[in-house]
Amino acid sequence: MRRFVDLHTHTTASDGCLAPEELIAAADRKKLAAVAVTDHDTIDALARARAAAEGYADLVFVPGIEVSAKSATGTLHILGLGIDEGAPGLVELAGQLRQARDERNPKIVAKLQALGADIDMDDVRAVAAADPSFGRSRIISRVHMAEALRRKGCVRTAKEAFQRYIGDGCPAFVDKERLVPADVIATLREAGGLAALAHPVELEYGNRLQLERILRDLIRAGLNGIEVYHSNHSPAQTRLYLDLARGHDLTVVGGSDFHGPAKPDARLGIPRVPLAAITGEFAERFLRP
Ligand code: AMP
Ligand code: MN
Ligand code: MN
Ligand code: MN
Repeated sequence: MRRFVDLHTHTTASDGCLAPEELIAAADRKKLAAVAVTDHDTIDALARARAAAEGYADLVFVPGIEVSAKSATGTLHILGLGIDEGAPGLVELAGQLRQARDERNPKIVAKLQALGADIDMDDVRAVAAADPSFGRSRIISRVHMAEALRRKGCVRTAKEAFQRYIGDGCPAFVDKERLVPADVIATLREAGGLAALAHPVELEYGNRLQLERILRDLIRAGLNGIEVYHSNHSPAQTRLYLDLARGHDLTVVGGSDFHGPAKPDARLGIPRVPLAAITGEFAERFLRP
């Protein structure tokens, strides 16, 4: 019996390094009971991941997405897990998210140029399209811009690109969020999914009370899950989020946020997320077939 799951991973449809088929194979090698594919703002990897998962009898595939929405302090991420990727509202949402990126990316590049960086959109597209599995339809994120800056010799590492130029609040940063969490949550739930707050540690909350206030607003908007386990959570944070999940009747979920070598600290299947920790309707429908 497999006992652990990973419900937060990225593929080459967004800023991950493994193609959907490679990710599914890697999840099976890790002996995971279930893996969710949750690319940023796109559902393009899901059909391929599902088809690949059919080849592994002991691995459950969960179709997902990680959507960026506006928060009081910038951005928050909402995971949709167990979504029907054919749902019209979700398809429309993905289109809106792609358009927001298409409009934002040249603005970041223009800021970089104004700061003296020798880089254009073709350099960024070349990085994203270097992986042939999605080619030009790949979601372009700041990870690709960081790599383009590195290849052009503007920075020595992608990390430096975030620190100096494109990290949140840095001189070339441009945000892209237009959707409020309530609309994202509604769309994910209409698509049959669980809507879970991703990595609460990234919310700029001062203390537990402030986090609870944010959480209550999201719950009022329909949030029904929380990512308790995540590669960036300390044991104390994990305990806090577990406590909040219980107190607010939220489904517990968790995963690594695996991207491949682009984010070496997030390893597939780590932290270990017990299948048994995930309860309720979502677990019954998607994790215990
Ligand atoms: P975007 O969705 O285009 O705003 O890009 C966000 C992605 O960039 C995140 O999903 C991370 O993979 C990555 N990222 C954001 N901030 C940093 C940072 N400070 N260092 C490294 N990667 C980052
Ligand atoms: Mn990412
Ligand atoms: Mn995220
Ligand atoms: Mn993620």
